[in-house]
Amino acid sequence: MTGKFEALSVETLPKRLGGTAALTDRIGKDARSWKVREVGDGNLNLVFIVEGDDGAAVVKQALPYVRLVGDSWPLPLKRSFFEYHALTRQQARAPGSVPAIYHFDETQALIVMEYLAPPHVILRRALIDGRELPNIARDIGLFMARTLFRGSDLSMVAKDRKADLALFADNVELCDITENLVFSDPYFDAKMNRHTSPQLDGLVAELRADRDLKVEAQRLKHLFAANAETLLHGDLHSGSIMVTDAETRMIDPEFAFYGPIAFDVGMLLANFWMAFFSQRGHEENGNRDSMRAYLLDVTAETWATFRAEFSLLWRTERTGMLYQRSLFEDQGDRLGSEQALDHMLHSIWDDLLGFAGIEVHRRILGLAHNADFETIADQDLRATCEAKALKFGRHIAVNRRQIHGINEVNTLAALIEQETRI
Ligand code: ADP
Ligand code: MG
Repeated sequence: MTGKFEALSVETLPKRLGGTAALTDRIGKDARSWKVREVGDGNLNLVFIVEGDDGAAVVKQALPYVRLVGDSWPLPLKRSFFEYHALTRQQARAPGSVPAIYHFDETQALIVMEYLAPPHVILRRALIDGRELPNIARDIGLFMARTLFRGSDLSMVAKDRKADLALFADNVELCDITENLVFSDPYFDAKMNRHTSPQLDGLVAELRADRDLKVEAQRLKHLFAANAETLLHGDLHSGSIMVTDAETRMIDPEFAFYGPIAFDVGMLLANFWMAFFSQRGHEENGNRDSMRAYLLDVTAETWATFRAEFSLLWRTERTGMLYQRSLFEDQGDRLGSEQALDHMLHSIWDDLLGFAGIEVHRRILGLAHNADFETIADQDLRATCEAKALKFGRHIAVNRRQIHGINEVNTLAALIEQETRI
């Protein structure tokens, strides 16, 4: 398929993709017998599941605007190009962690990829349902360490990293969404904001008047914009991960660009902490004490796995221009290399707490809310869960340099969660 961009539909897809070998080889040549469903529950793009005689695949196509909002908010098709290139890099750096990619058509802004069939579900959904998945912390911790380390100057040939930096620097419009929606809009009366009202009105006013918080949010925005350290997934939350009890796959890296390592890690952990604070709203069929404990364990294990794997890669794969072995190990100075690693992990820690705090805020105060809270029908109960999360987010963002370990954060989360006077 070439020529001018044209959005696919359930009806036109078989005709338009019936001659694409990458698809027919996998699902069968008889396009007339294909069953096509559009399942995009996302905010931005079309997602089709195509089932043929021999198998199934997913076709994801960008639209020239934001799906959730319509043509009044244009968004370039090239996001599909960045998603495709991010997926291929993630596959190379963390094999098996993303869906296999079968085909990319730049003009049609479409990616044909492996169908993650049921029992795969979106992780956020599983957490709302109270499922304690055994492998997510380890799988996601490894994914982050591998992609973030291997996409940086700790690992890559400088020339290649700079070429990638230039390639992804053009993902301007999606970065702009993050820059505004995450770091700025929650802290003023931006047009697209919404929050549970009137319950949270007072707290929202308080946060917008909170000078220390606003300064911190802008310092984090500065870091996000200026510290082009590694290729980020860029939108790594529980809605961008599909799971079964045994498997974990990251999807949807269209926000990929070069930014700080701590951003992906902070956003991801924030989504576990939000899942934690939302559990009180999902106790119709029994209490969620065990789920709450599980979620805090998941944050601790994810961070521990990340640190361990990042450290392993530091010791065994440090082939980039930064902290060269010639300065350390090759002179018998292992201690110097370990000291530098320690500094790096400390600064990732300080920054990830900031990004996590801000991510919690924007999901409750900004445009893109998450189902963890949104599916709590009782508005008062939802507001109570959200208020606790907001206070937690404020605390970890503003005090991030004084918080020394994940257990400290989780103790704080548990205390705030049990507060009755919010
Ligand atoms: P968007 O960028 O529009 O948010 P996503 O990539 O998040 O789109 O996909 C939207 C939804 O489509 C996902 O929540 C998931 O339910 C489904 N989906 C996406 N990719 C796959 C896949 N490879 N296999 C199965 N389902 C998928
Ligand atoms: Mg998306």
